[in-house]
Amino acid sequence: MYFALKSIGKDNEEKINCLTSISDKWQLIDRIAKHDGYDGIQFSNPFYGIPIDNPPGYIKEYRLAYHLDYTADFTQDGEMEKYNSIIKEGLLCAVENRMEDVSLHPPIAWHKDHRRRDEFQKKFANIIETWLPMFESEGIALSVESHVGGNVFLHSSLEKYAAFMARYPKLGALIDVSHNFNDGRIISDIIKIIGDLKITGLHLSDAISGAEVGIGTHLPVGNGEIDFSDFLKYYVHYNVYGALEIRATSQIISESLLKLKRVSALLYKATGAAASFIEAAGTPPMAAAANRPADRPPRASTSCLL
Ligand SMILES: [Zn+2]
Repeated sequence: MYFALKSIGKDNEEKINCLTSISDKWQLIDRIAKHDGYDGIQFSNPFYGIPIDNPPGYIKEYRLAYHLDYTADFTQDGEMEKYNSIIKEGLLCAVENRMEDVSLHPPIAWHKDHRRRDEFQKKFANIIETWLPMFESEGIALSVESHVGGNVFLHSSLEKYAAFMARYPKLGALIDVSHNFNDGRIISDIIKIIGDLKITGLHLSDAISGAEVGIGTHLPVGNGEIDFSDFLKYYVHYNVYGALEIRATSQIISESLLKLKRVSALLYKATGAAASFIEAAGTPPMAAAANRPADRPPRASTSCLL
């Protein structure tokens, strides 16, 4: 597992906004990533006001992922065309800039449209079936974030999200633990439900279960109720990114990253011997960690370490 820069803090956002040159903006991103010790960056577009189609060489040296922060609404005319063109742009950008993963936000299904969920799911399936082979042929993962439930998203529960995702073994899952925990799921439930999916990334921040979403998610590590050691132990031996999505100052985000790095280093060390033993026996380490039957091991994007 490796950590990817996503949130940079309100103070850094203000600093970037004050810079007029794109190259100065990229240099600031690089300084923040180096200062905190990130190995990767997860972009949105634009990324703090910076167009990401042509990042400088020193940015391309990070492991790059791209979160297409667009929430499709299939009640809108022309939405399939628009969504297809956004994903096409994402694929081209990922190919040109050697990005490893492009992730989609799930489509929306407002309460008033819940009766149309099956119709929306067919459209989303069509999108996935169109684009997944194209991403695969370029060696880039295509992933879908685990936003579910409420009166808002296509899938009314994490189980329904997982059932949809399981139809596409090559489709990646980006797990937003903050939202799933806030929705009332405990970590062991989340792991049980998503354990068989191909996990490509994690959106990491603390959360309070059941609190209003605006105040109960995207909290600094330690300000909520998530036991990150309980969660990250399933991922430290896999090629999965952890992008911090925290609403706070840069100082607080740096402290959160440090806490997560310490937790994952300890877990890596503590589970390393067991993991190599199990790997040698031909079973992914997560199968043992999750206490699952060996014939249904949880899947991660690859078995390469860190
Ligand atoms: Zn997220």
